[in-house]
Amino acid sequence: MRVAVIGAGVIGCATALELAKRGAEVVLLERAVPGSEASSAAAGMLGAGAEIDEDDPEQIERLVRARDAYGPWIEELRGETGIDVGYRVSGILIVMTGDPVERERLTRIVALQRARGQRAELIDGVQARSIEPELSADVGACAYFPDDSQVDPPALLRALVASLAKKRNVSLRSGAVVERMLLEGGRCTGVALAAPPAAGQSNVVQADATVLAAGSWSSLLPGIEKELAPVRPARGQVVQLEERPPRLATPIVRGPAYAIPRGDGRVYCGSTVEFVGYRREITAGAVRDILDGTIRTIPSLAEASLSSTWMGFRPHAERPLVGRSSIPGLFWATGHYRSGIVLAKITADDIAQSIFASS
Ligand SMILES: Cc1cc2nc3c(=O)[nH]c(=O)nc-3n(C[C@H](O)[C@H](O)[C@H](O)COP(=O)(O)OP(=O)(O)OC[C@H]3O[C@@H](n4cnc5c(N)ncnc54)[C@H](O)[C@@H]3O)c2cc1C
Repeated sequence: MRVAVIGAGVIGCATALELAKRGAEVVLLERAVPGSEASSAAAGMLGAGAEIDEDDPEQIERLVRARDAYGPWIEELRGETGIDVGYRVSGILIVMTGDPVERERLTRIVALQRARGQRAELIDGVQARSIEPELSADVGACAYFPDDSQVDPPALLRALVASLAKKRNVSLRSGAVVERMLLEGGRCTGVALAAPPAAGQSNVVQADATVLAAGSWSSLLPGIEKELAPVRPARGQVVQLEERPPRLATPIVRGPAYAIPRGDGRVYCGSTVEFVGYRREITAGAVRDILDGTIRTIPSLAEASLSSTWMGFRPHAERPLVGRSSIPGLFWATGHYRSGIVLAKITADDIAQSIFASS
């Protein structure tokens, strides 16, 4: 079984790894540097409270399952590569804003999680400050998810690439721009690259199965517009601060602003959600809003140094597009929007299972 995977973000890398473990010969095609798009820009929150937009019980169930799959997966990756991916069960505190809709949404999420035997609590400001003393005195009611965890996405991507490099049945080609799917007799038989890998070589990659994991660029490939629900970029801007010595210990979310301490002094502060096409900009207004929001909630961050800024494009779709497409031989692994890091492992499992089931 030969499988072509388009895109080496967290989804493409995790899927390629899972397929390789199950014995497939995998060609992973990446136009740029593996992991250099949304996957390395992410906050890396692994939870079912903060980065979701709806209180869909099925989605929450899937996110909790995905979060719980992380511990064993990370151990396996560490064993293979020796890379520490910053996995920590640090809990996540979500500060209730004055917005009654948000308050109701969080109350429902806590109730749903508790009904499934998960630890989740509604707490007051005093309890919240006993968990995280850096919280401002104006913080009142919060939702607390003590079993939520985090990972450092660039480190995760390094570990995935290192693990792929050890697999004899994986060929990871960066600088390989997929131009189109090969569609023959109604079946997908691989992909055509924009340019051959080397002079005299073919630009065609034949495959028994092809996985589209091209993130925010998935809808740009020609010939699949009717089959694939639209995937569009949702820009997220990020500011990274550094505290010496580290003070903040718990990830804090308040409205659109959040602060994720990495444990070593770095504090990841996000983020915006902007539908502005593929514009790669860091805007003054976004940096101001992110800093305003985080410093209002965690006043000591005003003393931290601003070390860097970046942005990424979340692949937005109505819901994640995972599994067989209506074209035989072609599988979707895209549209993970705000949850692609947490969902990576279970998406990889689902895709590998459906490819082997259909062979
Ligand atoms: C600011 C921000 C914060 C986030 N926070 C979280 C979080 O806390 N938790 C969480 O779970 N998720 C989070 N996310 C979402 C998460 O980052 C994404 O859902 C996830 O990274 C998507 O992974 P992907 O592999 O589908 O896409 P990407 O990482 O974008 O990878 C797609 C790859 O496909 C390649 N590609 C595209 N077209 C082609 C082509 N034609 N040929 C070859 N290669 C191609 C691209 O170069 C790219 O490397 C966040 C995202 C952002 C931007």
